[in-house]
Amino acid sequence: TAASLLLIIAFPISPINLKEELEPGKSSCASRRHCHKISSSYHKPPSPYLLSMLRDYEQRHKRCEPLSESFNRSFFQKQNYSTKSHQTSHVVDDDDCSYVVFTRPTNGLGNRMLSMSSAFLYALLTNRVLLVDFGPDMTHLFSEPVPNSTWLFPEDFRFGNRIYGSKVDDFGSLMKKKNNNYTDPVLVNISSSFLHVNLGYGYDDYDKLFYSNGVQDGLQKVAWLILKSDQYFVPYLFLMSGFRAKLDRMFPDKEAVFHHLGRYLFTPSDQAWGLIARFYDAYLEKADERIGLQIRVLDSKASPTALVLKQVLRCAQKEAQILPPLATKQNETATKKLVSKKTSYHKAVLVASLSSEFYIELKDMFWKRASASTGSDEEVAVGFHQASREEVQRSNDGSHNMMAWVDIYLLSLCDVLVTSGWSTFGYVAQGLGGLRPWILQIPDTKYGGGDTLWGQACRRAVSMEPCFHFPPSYDDNKVGVRVDGSSTVVHCEDVGGGLKLV
Ligand code: GDP
Repeated sequence: TAASLLLIIAFPISPINLKEELEPGKSSCASRRHCHKISSSYHKPPSPYLLSMLRDYEQRHKRCEPLSESFNRSFFQKQNYSTKSHQTSHVVDDDDCSYVVFTRPTNGLGNRMLSMSSAFLYALLTNRVLLVDFGPDMTHLFSEPVPNSTWLFPEDFRFGNRIYGSKVDDFGSLMKKKNNNYTDPVLVNISSSFLHVNLGYGYDDYDKLFYSNGVQDGLQKVAWLILKSDQYFVPYLFLMSGFRAKLDRMFPDKEAVFHHLGRYLFTPSDQAWGLIARFYDAYLEKADERIGLQIRVLDSKASPTALVLKQVLRCAQKEAQILPPLATKQNETATKKLVSKKTSYHKAVLVASLSSEFYIELKDMFWKRASASTGSDEEVAVGFHQASREEVQRSNDGSHNMMAWVDIYLLSLCDVLVTSGWSTFGYVAQGLGGLRPWILQIPDTKYGGGDTLWGQACRRAVSMEPCFHFPPSYDDNKVGVRVDGSSTVVHCEDVGGGLKLV
């Protein structure tokens, strides 16, 4: 039943109920929507300081929520609206609300969720409120993070439309005007009230000045930051001296940053929860062990199915040893005599992939051939399941995104994960689940030994944290910070130039 699923996700290690901590006395579910959060607890408990920051955040969010008096005051003042009621001071003081608005990105769901969690951490650090400017393809996926409030930026106020668009400045262009040599600016005066900030793939050196302390001082005065990003930029916030002390207090355990942020922000909507719970109950719940295999192939010509499948088996059977070896021709006849023996251990394997080929092949392989364990004391039965097979990646498609979210969440409920290198889809699953995955190297015939497999098929991640794929370059010290010698931020296993927390 769905109730048993709720119990399963109440993890056994020091279960801490964040929602109860935040709202003492409100442990019964006022609405089904909030039951999910109440029911889920954490692999690693959040620090008291993080809890107190979240409690403050909730108050701030409610005070500043869309269409509230404070919201309107902040929005219209900053637009220089000269109606009498909006003619008060322009200086951002303590009572004013300031925001970071996450705008519609072009990338997939994994990228978006990682970037939203980074924006949320930035909002916590800078006393802002996170709002999201979703399109209709995203609005039905999640429950509201702050109960009885909304994080949806009102449609009528959209930035970039006819009325407001021209008044929004661009951070990178501003930096270009003010600062030509990229040296770490001590303090930058920024007078804009609305600022577009681009921290997404392909951003330039001027955009990257966002990561310098001096610029951050200047940004405090800007009430509206409109953020475009598809990156998990959290690791870089740890490299900024202005934020470090607070971050250390918030996250004594550096590998659980996304685990806490993600589980706070992303609760499935009722619709998503129905899909997750029904699948889980039917196919995964009763297994002794749940294994998630996330196979993300970016270029099917360069990474043909047969080769990727071989690599998956090298990883799962030989290196990670999470799937049993299959019987060889010789011992298969011998084991046939013993097949009536009762299976004592069930493994349920969830295959998440755009394509259905891996699921079909694996299922057939483990069904039609006996496992080498047949006849031994512990006989293992392996069942394969796939929730969705979308075949191609689509954008701006609500039902496609729903399937992606369901797959991510189901993966996060597994006990063991194999994820594909470079995939933010896998990062979100591992972070929500609190799992250190085996990272699969998807073979690519364009590189290395053609279709010969060599080297490691997969390796265990050093932490459950996602990777920041495209951080600013630190080697040339353009923004004045270095990763060298840091024991908190290291290079990612799957992306050489990327950074992750450990
Ligand atoms: P990344 O490209 O692997 O970093 O992950 P993203 O989530 O950012 O983008 C990939 C998109 O492709 C997803 O959001 C889905 O729309 C789709 N996709 C990729 N793999 C899967 C999968 O296993 N299941 C489903 N349902 N969709 C997938």
